[in-house]
Amino acid sequence: MPKLLPRLLRRPWTAAAAALALVISAFVAMPASGADPASGCRVDYTVNEWTGGYSAQVRLTHTGSALSGWRLTWTYDGDRQVTSAWNATVTQTGHVVTAVNADWNGEVADGGSVDFGLQGTWQSAGHAPTDFALNGVSCGGDGTSPPTTPPPTTPPPSAECGDAAVCEDFEDQTGPAPAGNWRFTAPDCQGTGTAAVDTEVAHSGTRSLRLDGRAGYCNHAFVAAAADLSSVGPVLHLRMWVRHTTALPAAHVTFVSMPDSSQGGKALRIGGQNGALQWNRESDDATLPAQSPVGVGLSRPLPTDSWQCVRFAIDTTAPGLDTWLNDEQVPGLHADGVPTQDVDQQWLSRTTPPRPVELRLGWESYGTGDDTLWFDDVVAGSSPVGC
Ligand code: CA
Repeated sequence: MPKLLPRLLRRPWTAAAAALALVISAFVAMPASGADPASGCRVDYTVNEWTGGYSAQVRLTHTGSALSGWRLTWTYDGDRQVTSAWNATVTQTGHVVTAVNADWNGEVADGGSVDFGLQGTWQSAGHAPTDFALNGVSCGGDGTSPPTTPPPTTPPPSAECGDAAVCEDFEDQTGPAPAGNWRFTAPDCQGTGTAAVDTEVAHSGTRSLRLDGRAGYCNHAFVAAAADLSSVGPVLHLRMWVRHTTALPAAHVTFVSMPDSSQGGKALRIGGQNGALQWNRESDDATLPAQSPVGVGLSRPLPTDSWQCVRFAIDTTAPGLDTWLNDEQVPGLHADGVPTQDVDQQWLSRTTPPRPVELRLGWESYGTGDDTLWFDDVVAGSSPVGC
């Protein structure tokens, strides 16, 4: 069965860290006046990261008079944002992170260590921190030239791709036209819609897929993945980053189209209508949610001019469909076995579970609506992948 090779989501500095635990240490005697001249602190900061997220294990080792309570601070130079922590209370103000002991690990003897951990998000990772300070006194890093391990020459397998059928960052696209595992398609008629590899706008690296979609059905343009999705499941998970320039119109549009073998090859599509995201089934034109004001209100617009994380999960064995926008589950884009008025009552009129076999990204308008869209970091497989 044809299948795309898992592809790395590369970033200049951070890709190496995906599989490579990075250890940053700092240890010096503290020369601060009034401090115990024999005292010092060492911080081992071990980070694991993936696209958009990271976790870090932190070991603080202290020498000198026993501590009764500690506060460790450092600065991020990228846009890392701590979202949770364990074995410490960790807060962040701007780029400055402060970790304070938990009730049970505030006492640290001379030469003793304490471990805590944290998790967070990032878009632009920056460097690993080096300017650790314990109770306001520097542990010795100077904030420049972190002692990182150089990236390996052979990139490690990406933690988030696993055995996904599609795992694409578009970084190995060499020309202006989508090639290799992607091909341009305009299945019904061809007009003015175009697709290209963009080297100026990207969610990861320096490349993404750009679609210039035009209003009018024949101006549709899609780029299809070569991967055969027909055996992906039982739940097909897709995660992609998308940005676009123009708010979803009142008229019906599509930006993801998946030929569905359970519907004779007619597509299962996600796009928009009445200004909000919407699923549509080509075979019977059913929509999710129903296009009543209540139904539309339970969906969400697709914000413009910024990267948006769209995820969905399609059950290929039962009528189940879920959709998330930036990790928020969208209530109007949820179908289950129980018909809900204004949401999935119409959608569930067809009981055969969907069986998407191909992934197409692009633009199709059934009325009005030009839009320019970019797609990047697309993963489709049997396991969920986060934003
Ligand atoms: Ca990219």
